Amino acid sequence: EPFLKEEQAAEESKEEKRVGLSWGRLFEEARPVAWRLVFGTLFLLLGAGTQLAIPALFGSVIDALTTRNGDQLSRDVIVLVIISAAGALFSLIRAFLFNSAGEFVVAALRQKLFRAVLEQEVGFYDATKTGELISRLASDTAVLKDAVTVNISMGLRFGATAVGGIAYLFALSWQLALMMLGVVPAIAISAVIFGRYVRKLSKEQQKALADASEVAEETFGSIRTVRSFVAEPKQTKAYSGSIDLTLALGIRNAWAGGIFVAVTSVVTSCAFIGIVYYGGTLVIQGDITTGVLTSFLLFALQIGAALGGLASLFGSIMAAMGANDRVFKLLDREPAMPVSGTGATPKGIEGLVELRDVHFSYPTRKDAKVLHGLSLAMRPGEVHALVGSSGGGKSTVVNLIERFYDPDAGAVCVDGLDLRTVDPRWLRTHVGLVRQEPTLFGTSIRENIAFGRPGASQDEVVAAARKANAHEFISAFPDGYDTVVGEKGVRLSGGQKQRVAIARAVLRDPAILLLDEATSALDAESEFLVQAALERLMVGRTVLIIAHRLSTVRSANRVHVVDAGVIRASGTHETLLASSPLYAQLVRRQLSGLGSAATPE
Ligand code: ADP
Repeated sequence: EPFLKEEQAAEESKEEKRVGLSWGRLFEEARPVAWRLVFGTLFLLLGAGTQLAIPALFGSVIDALTTRNGDQLSRDVIVLVIISAAGALFSLIRAFLFNSAGEFVVAALRQKLFRAVLEQEVGFYDATKTGELISRLASDTAVLKDAVTVNISMGLRFGATAVGGIAYLFALSWQLALMMLGVVPAIAISAVIFGRYVRKLSKEQQKALADASEVAEETFGSIRTVRSFVAEPKQTKAYSGSIDLTLALGIRNAWAGGIFVAVTSVVTSCAFIGIVYYGGTLVIQGDITTGVLTSFLLFALQIGAALGGLASLFGSIMAAMGANDRVFKLLDREPAMPVSGTGATPKGIEGLVELRDVHFSYPTRKDAKVLHGLSLAMRPGEVHALVGSSGGGKSTVVNLIERFYDPDAGAVCVDGLDLRTVDPRWLRTHVGLVRQEPTLFGTSIRENIAFGRPGASQDEVVAAARKANAHEFISAFPDGYDTVVGEKGVRLSGGQKQRVAIARAVLRDPAILLLDEATSALDAESEFLVQAALERLMVGRTVLIIAHRLSTVRSANRVHVVDAGVIRASGTHETLLASSPLYAQLVRRQLSGLGSAATPE
């Protein structure tokens, strides 16, 4: 994964700069909910005000008691009731505004992120673990929701309480206020140390969690393979290993949090005890009333809690930074190849396909050259077959015609146009790819057939299925076209899946058809139905088949022997048999006679 490593190195070096940048980006995302945040802040400040009024009122109550003033006591209690009720109402509104803002931001962010990931080139997916992408979408965005909601709202509230409270303290007694302020540097320093540590831990923890998700996804997604190899214990061990790592990191995090809370509480307690002693002396000397000292102590408690809260929030903010960074790095990543919207969009298509002296290596393995100057030309309507031992580069040719990757040198052209100059969406609406071990989605058969043409009518879907020899078996299901095929189509047989995939291609009606013939043989009946459907599908299109059957190469206009990234020989089956010993050997060893029964010869 060379280019990922590069990205990582760049990330470390630019980290500090980026952090600031990505916070800016997060606030940009929050712009649509700005009014919620503004009103939330307003109610938050009102709430902080009511909270600050309470200690002052308590002081007044104490003084009412010491002077035995019943009227003042009842007045104070009524005001206390009103203020507490108002405080509760303000909290409710504030909590709703901030939380709903967070939900909006995270929902929008997830949708954007999903689109951004889908825009990435195929090479990106070769290099990135799916589990990692899933965890960006699910857990990192959730962390960011907290950053927008809980963190902002708590931070503001604690900040307002601390500032307002300290100002009030100075008004009551500046000596006592200074004592209280003495704790600030101690708490701030430990918060910074703690925050750094938490950030490092949470980064490692997220990474371990992504590894665990990857294992889980692979295991559940390939349950048949796992089961048949009795690999449950192995997979369980792999998953447990990653989770144990997250646990160990989490425990360290828990320790750090505990120590931090203890430190802040010791510091604030010291200040509190000092204030009790010194303030008590002032009361005894008659410099301040008992009520003033009571207010002061209640304020001090509130401020201490606010400062402690601010400091531990610093920890969560640091943790959120990691997530923020990763999310926006992904969101802002420029795809190496556009998905659509750039380049020419010719009106129709002839179906001429050429590879001109193509050199290619996969982006994830730049040092291993796969194609060494491969050339190939198919005129519209021709059927060409690629044969050759595995690893020679046949699928790579197909990948390049789909423009999943760009060649390092040379060109891939359709209708004489270099693929790099046309809109990839234009290309892909005219190129169909049918793998005979096809990928279906966990939806209904109808949706699977209409996958490439979401607007297709029921009649069109049925017509396509008929052409693909699929209508009969689909109609035999109790739910017909609404039958859900299960994840990856597990509830269909191999031959049924192939015919659904063929129907999908029929509906798409591509001018250029790329076929990857299945190596595994079906039973004779399915084989016949699939072959017949394919032959119908191929009519009138330019077809490139990765061939494994003798019948296929026999009927192809031209056969190419691909070996070690070049074409060794080309011709018809007969001419190649006569001229190419390599081909003769392939026919003997690899091209199975199976399926030749389907072609009358
Ligand atoms: P064939 O289809 O003839 O069996 P392929 O085109 O699949 O051969 O593979 C040619 C070479 O490219 C092989 O060495 C294979 O390991 C490598 N390769 C195929 N796909 C990828 C990929 N996505 N990333 C890196 N290397 C790949």
